[in-house]
Amino acid sequence: MASQSTPSRRQIIISKLFQFCRQIIGPNTSAENTPVSASVSSEPLVITRGEHGISRKQFSPNAIKVLYRLKDGGYDAYLVGGCIRDILLGQQPKDFDVVTNATPDQVKKLFRNCRLIGRRFRLAHIVFGREIIEVATMRGHHEAPEDKNQISQSSDEGQLLRDNVFGSIEEDAERRDFSINALYYSINDFSIHDYANGLAAIKAKQIELIGDPETRYREDPVRMLRAVRFATKLDMSIAPNSEKPIAELANLLDNIPPARLFEEILKLFLNGKAEANFLMLRKYGLFRSLFPELDKILDKNPDGLENKLVQQMFQNTDKRINSNKKVTPAFIFAALLWFPLLEHTKKIQEQEQILEYDAFAQAMNKVLSESSQHIAVPKRFTLGARDIWHIQHRLDKRAGQRAYRLTQQPRFKAAYDFLLLRVDAGETQHTELAQWWTQYLSQDINGQKDMVKNLGHQGGPKPRKRTRRRAPKKPTE
Ligand code: ATP
Ligand code: MG
Repeated sequence: MASQSTPSRRQIIISKLFQFCRQIIGPNTSAENTPVSASVSSEPLVITRGEHGISRKQFSPNAIKVLYRLKDGGYDAYLVGGCIRDILLGQQPKDFDVVTNATPDQVKKLFRNCRLIGRRFRLAHIVFGREIIEVATMRGHHEAPEDKNQISQSSDEGQLLRDNVFGSIEEDAERRDFSINALYYSINDFSIHDYANGLAAIKAKQIELIGDPETRYREDPVRMLRAVRFATKLDMSIAPNSEKPIAELANLLDNIPPARLFEEILKLFLNGKAEANFLMLRKYGLFRSLFPELDKILDKNPDGLENKLVQQMFQNTDKRINSNKKVTPAFIFAALLWFPLLEHTKKIQEQEQILEYDAFAQAMNKVLSESSQHIAVPKRFTLGARDIWHIQHRLDKRAGQRAYRLTQQPRFKAAYDFLLLRVDAGETQHTELAQWWTQYLSQDINGQKDMVKNLGHQGGPKPRKRTRRRAPKKPTE
């Protein structure tokens, strides 16, 4: 690995770092949107320990253990990707990824707590209780000569289906998605190796794909979603050359396995930046590939109730995540599929002349089965969404024991929150009902009984009293 630097090169590095630090410490708007070039050079920019000032204490001790074990085993080992990027930006990394020139089988031999996973990318997971350190073998070019262990395969659209060709660190850098994610921290001398002008991109606040953007999106369309996620998370913009092909290629997301899309959607909506991600996905036409029916509804009426409800839901989600409160994907999917559900209900009711509630039940199956074609939402969340929807129909039936019984349903709280969301978004016809429930939930049992008594006809028809069946008369002889 080339780690020596000539004096003039060192000067460049120091001046870059100086500017970089100023960028982080204080705003420097002139740096924003400066074009950066993300091609990988065989000579990385090397920033020594003294220059970058990152200490090993900022890394997970388990990640450091893994690096040393690999090094002592005679292999090269680096921390790479998000963890270096986030620490440079003063953020807490989500996880620590390691890259090495040891093959997955060689890694497995070094660690007892190792399991190999993945088909598309073969990876080693080193398990330390709840923390997993992911160890990847450096990737090479998929055009490289193939043998039995080095398999790569792509589809007609240019999508990489398997990517298990191993290579050098320079090749590995070229296979990474964005320049800001191709920063490597070496355990040999604690320096950072920047292969694709990642530091310059951090300074310019730009998310830029490495290589030709169209080819890189075609290889893996999920990179379009990752670009959005990093832009909002890091408060950066997508560089113009990386932004340009997105609208045209957005529909390639249809080729992504539904289980992977579900995982990516969770990352987008559960990271405290859901509202910003939603708006950016809409801007680039990516939301259409994820939620096509809702996207059409939102387009029809940009200032309407539908947009308000979805945006408000994401705002609430962000608030909850940022104050460490729980969020269930069931609620998010219930809200995202609510308007398609109402549309289907109407259609079915008109076509089949059946009761609204029956049409609603049929429509639930329809929206869930349609959305499962491209997003694999696990059953526990679709069941949760169904409960939230069902309860919307029962919230105004409060007479007798009904209100109390409804509160005992496992999804009642989520369904009540959903009612509040509908009212907030503009369904003012339910304002009184929402206020009634808010008051009901604040009362003790006697107060609740009084509220139900005072309902009169509003609480729906009184439940029929059960009449005792008389035992049949014994036949007289
Ligand atoms: P975070 O963990 O905060 O979501 P990250 O950048 O660490 O961000 P990971 O999904 O953990 O993202 O991936 C680790 C690294 O692997 C990335 O930084 C990037 O270098 C590489 N990588 C991940 N996904 C892809 C992809 N689809 N295409 C190319 N490189 C990728
Ligand atoms: Mg990561």
